[in-house]
Amino acid sequence: MKILDNIADLKKEISSLKGSIGLVPTMGALHKGHQSLIEKAVNENDNAIVSIFVNPIQFGINEDLDKYPRCLASDSKLCEEAGVKIVFAPKISQMYAEGKENLTLICPPYSAVDKLCGKSRIGHFDGVASVVAKLFNLTKANRAYFGQKDAQQLFIIQKMVRDLNFDIEIIPCPIVREEDNLALSSRNQYLTKSERALALNISKALFEAKKLAKTNTITKRAVIDNSLKIMEGLEVEYIEFVDINTFEIQDEINKNTLMLIASRTPETKTRLIDNMKLFD
Ligand code: AMP
Repeated sequence: MKILDNIADLKKEISSLKGSIGLVPTMGALHKGHQSLIEKAVNENDNAIVSIFVNPIQFGINEDLDKYPRCLASDSKLCEEAGVKIVFAPKISQMYAEGKENLTLICPPYSAVDKLCGKSRIGHFDGVASVVAKLFNLTKANRAYFGQKDAQQLFIIQKMVRDLNFDIEIIPCPIVREEDNLALSSRNQYLTKSERALALNISKALFEAKKLAKTNTITKRAVIDNSLKIMEGLEVEYIEFVDINTFEIQDEINKNTLMLIASRTPETKTRLIDNMKLFD
C-alpha cells in the first residue's frame, strides 16, 4: 500500500493502476463505519483508494477544525489490513494550491442546502461538494462509497454527479452502529462518559419512531414530541422528516420517510447526527 501526500505522486500511481478504482473519501480517525465502506470498495473494485483529508473549507469558523482527531498511522494500518492500494492524505497546500479563498467552488442549490445540516452549517456543503469533485477528478475513480449516516451529504453528492455528469457510480452504504445502537462517528471521541450515555437517546428516538410509525394514525407532531422526551438533556438542533428520494421536507409521514436528527451534547457541545428510514 502506498501512502501519498501530494498530487504528483498520486497521478503517477493512478496512471499505473489496472482495472477499476473505488474511492472512499474520509476525514480520517477511521472507525468501523469507515471500515465497512473501505471493505466494500476493496471487494467491488480492482483498486481501492482511501482519501484522508480534514477539509478546512467544509468547517465553519466556530467549528472543530483544529481539534478534529488526526491519526494517520493507525488509519493507514486499518487501510493496509483491509487491502487498500493507496491512501491519499494530501496537505492543505496540495488541495488548495492557489489558496482556499481563491477556489472555484461547486455550490449545491439553495433547495438542497437550505434545510437540515445546511441551515446551521452555512457553506458546509459547498466545501464538501468542491473537495469531493476534486477527489473524483484526481483519482479517476469508477465508484465512490458514501455512508448513509451523512444522508444530506449523500443526497447532495448524488445530485452533483447527475447535474454535472460525473462519470462515477455513487454507492450508498448503511449506517454502522455500536452494539448499543449509537451511530459510529469520529466525533464520538469528544464525548464524556455521561454524554455518551445521553447520546444513545438519539438512536433510541429513531428506533422508537420506527415503532410508532407502524400505527397508521401517527402524526409528525406526535413523533417529534416523543423524540424530544427521549432526548431530554440533549440540545436538539432539528428533528426532521424528508422524502428519501427527493429530500423534500414532508408534512406527513409516509412509506418514503427518512427521519433525521441533529443535536449537541450539553458539556462538550459535540454535534451528533443520525437518521433512519421509518418503514423498511
Ligand atoms: P467522515 O470521515 O466523517 O467524513 O466520513 C467519511 C465517510 O464515512 C462518509 O461517507 C460518512 O458518511 C461515512 N461514515 C461515517 N460514519 C459512518 C457510520 N457510522 N456508518 C456508515 N458510514 C459512515
